[in-house]
Amino acid sequence: MTDSHHIPKDAKFETRAIHAGQSPDPTNGAVMTPVYLTSTYAQEAPAVPRHGYEYSRTTNPTRTALEANLASLEDGAWGLCYASGLASTNALMDRMNPGDHVVAGNDLYGGTYRIFTKVFERYGIEFSFVDTTDPANIKAAMQPNTRYVYVETPSNPLLSLTDIAAAAEIAHAGEAQLVVDNTFATPYLQRPLEHGADIVLHSLSKYLGGHSDLIGGALIGRDEKTREELAFYQNAVGGCLAPLDAFLVLRGTKTLGVRMDRHCSNAQAVAEALSEHELVDRVIYPGLPDHPQLTIAQRQMSQPGGMVSFELKGGVEGANAFASATKIFTLAESLGGVESLVEVPPSMTHASIPAEVRRAAGLADGLVRLSVGIENVDDLLVDVAQALEQAARAAGVRA
Ligand SMILES: *Cc1c(COP(=O)(O)O)cnc(C)c1O
Repeated sequence: MTDSHHIPKDAKFETRAIHAGQSPDPTNGAVMTPVYLTSTYAQEAPAVPRHGYEYSRTTNPTRTALEANLASLEDGAWGLCYASGLASTNALMDRMNPGDHVVAGNDLYGGTYRIFTKVFERYGIEFSFVDTTDPANIKAAMQPNTRYVYVETPSNPLLSLTDIAAAAEIAHAGEAQLVVDNTFATPYLQRPLEHGADIVLHSLSKYLGGHSDLIGGALIGRDEKTREELAFYQNAVGGCLAPLDAFLVLRGTKTLGVRMDRHCSNAQAVAEALSEHELVDRVIYPGLPDHPQLTIAQRQMSQPGGMVSFELKGGVEGANAFASATKIFTLAESLGGVESLVEVPPSMTHASIPAEVRRAAGLADGLVRLSVGIENVDDLLVDVAQALEQAARAAGVRA
């Protein structure tokens, strides 16, 4: 099931998204990869599996198909899928020993910051959180015991960008691996392995699944020794992705390209409308000319993505009023689904980061984050405009 010999080796992204890792079922011709709801597999003789499968924690054919599909999309050699994005971060850390050190970005998904500081610091692993938009900060934080440089680009929620090639060079000079959380960009817009990253991490719960109906995570890379170590821990620790969820992500990646094109064009329109609006103080979007890392965006991303963050006049009160006033944008955590979502990171997705740490990293209390969906753009623009008016009134702001 997991080969895709029927498509040419040099097939382009959108073709591989639909076919890589999948072939019609040899026993009945089913075009879609079956959901293999089985925990175990019949063996030929003791410890001689018939088709290479023994137990579904170790490997499952639906998961194997997805792992091959994601490896193809990231131009990697292998993929490993986990029960959540955080389970894949956890899996990376299974390779560490007490006394090891990680240089991490200072603007990370809140749950990533939490697992690092609340779980792994207790295990004696050290972290330095630095502003990775300037490679000099990464370089200065490197230590002899640094094993990973861990960055999100674009970051969550400030959409700041890290130069992947520069970060890789610094990591490798220190004999560390560069991990890039590529959840916001997706492989359709950015392929970190091509720029020298060692491991790509995804929350499959976001754009790759694409329909807000599952939780999953993945690691993708090229180095075989890294794969062997991670596969050992995947089996030994057990946080693997379930077959039905693997099927749902396989269905999601087939439309990734068309979805991302629409996410990007809608987000560009929303970002431009916000930046021209008198009730808005600041808009952060890698497709606007004033984005501080615009040249990095142009170098390593094909389009700026579907996420837009902004601060409106009226601070927290304005932000809360805006998030409660939208009609099409649903007030909810998460991102990357076909439907538009709005949230206020400091009190929602990033509440696990202490207020002073958040503020020091430039995350204002009144920041609003939009996951711009693929609805009709005119409807989205009308919704944003009416919510801004209501927010201004609620916060007592005059334009
Ligand atoms: C959501 C998210 C995660 C965590 O993924 P889960 O699937 O929720 O565990 C990690 N990184 C980024 C950038 C995310 O947005």
